Amino acid sequence: MQRTQSQDLFEKAKQYIPGGVNSPVRAFRAVGGSPIFIKSAKGPYIYDEDGNQYLEFINSWGPMILGHAHELIEKAVSDAIQNSFSFGAPTRKEVEMAELIVGMVPSVEKVRMVNSGTEATMSAIRVARGYTGRDKIIKFEGCYHGHGDSFLISAGSGAVTMGVPDSPGVTKGVANDTLTAPFNDLPALQQLMDANKGQIAALILEPVVGNMGCVLPNTGYLEAIRTLCTKEGIVLIFDEVMTGFRLAKGGAQERFGIVPDMTTMGKIIGGGMPVGAYGGKREIMDCVSPAGPVYQAGTLSGNPIAMSAGLAMLRYLEAHPEVYTRLDEVGNTIAAGFKASLQKLGLNFTINHIGSMFTLFMTDQPVTDFTSAKASDLPLFGRYFQAMLKRGIYLAPSQFESLFFSYALEDAHIQQLIEANEEALREVI
Ligand code: PLP
Repeated sequence: MQRTQSQDLFEKAKQYIPGGVNSPVRAFRAVGGSPIFIKSAKGPYIYDEDGNQYLEFINSWGPMILGHAHELIEKAVSDAIQNSFSFGAPTRKEVEMAELIVGMVPSVEKVRMVNSGTEATMSAIRVARGYTGRDKIIKFEGCYHGHGDSFLISAGSGAVTMGVPDSPGVTKGVANDTLTAPFNDLPALQQLMDANKGQIAALILEPVVGNMGCVLPNTGYLEAIRTLCTKEGIVLIFDEVMTGFRLAKGGAQERFGIVPDMTTMGKIIGGGMPVGAYGGKREIMDCVSPAGPVYQAGTLSGNPIAMSAGLAMLRYLEAHPEVYTRLDEVGNTIAAGFKASLQKLGLNFTINHIGSMFTLFMTDQPVTDFTSAKASDLPLFGRYFQAMLKRGIYLAPSQFESLFFSYALEDAHIQQLIEANEEALREVI
């Protein structure tokens, strides 16, 4: 497989863009080699600058749940651009979008559109702080909530009552207001809450984690968190940027039957355009300017092209529940196929999956939190990734990411993935 165009572009990119990419994980640092530069994509396939075709399981890190360049979304966007690209003023489409989201997502009574998942989470914690009059937040080790300062806090330090800046540029003051706890560990969470009684504005989590690889909540874990937050007056925020409209039309909260106080959204909600949103209980959302005193704004928020793409996507998902039945079936078939191959090869690696989220961890121990995720054999994952790429399978270039399956996958594609996986594992172990 020739990749000279991609290699040349990467060399040039490094001269003008930090690290040659506009988002770090794209640089393939975790798996070695140089990134492929994408030219186009259609359905389940993506094509690079050298003309190579890959069956793809990143799907723009989640948004392309129907596969690439779906005709409904293409039409919505091409119709919308006839009316100009941005007005910076209210539009009918924003109202339709808000009404649709409120109808689909159980916790959302009012919603504000923003431009990314990062903006959604940053805004949500500001609102939670304004609403409660408290400063601290709790997040979980290994959960990712975008690149807002408050969320870039080191996981793993034993000092769970005191955050440590994970990235230069995050001040100690900000870090001190972010408390971290291990995922799936209720006693540790209870301890953290007891030690900071009356000071915690919000607890934010990915109800199913995608950002340490796919990690599921233990049975009863989300219920217990809901109960604790209610008891302590803490705003419970589900970050459903990844899981929203993916695990069910109403996200993980619908799938698990747990209603948070606020929800952050992104990815699928924009149909591939840059969009995010945050919403929740009316009483909380009415704190947001101009209804209330918590300021949050955006020149391009509710952009008409993005709203058109997102509306077409969400309307389709709302009207077609069979998408979710099929995606569950796809996930289960792939998991069964991978398990059969692992058995054949005498391997006992861990597979975590739910619906269309999936991670094969290179460890034979269960993966339930960040510490167990980090026990994976990362060099082996790097070799496996390259072996899959060589076979025309484009996976997320990191062990600490979930794969996303799309509705465009047909049974033959699934078999292709299962066979490539077995061959790649045989090659690298
Ligand atoms: N929250 C979660 C759960 C995410 O997975 C991400 C991105 O991957 C974000 C927030 C940030 O979203 P964005 O990259 O659109 O800023």
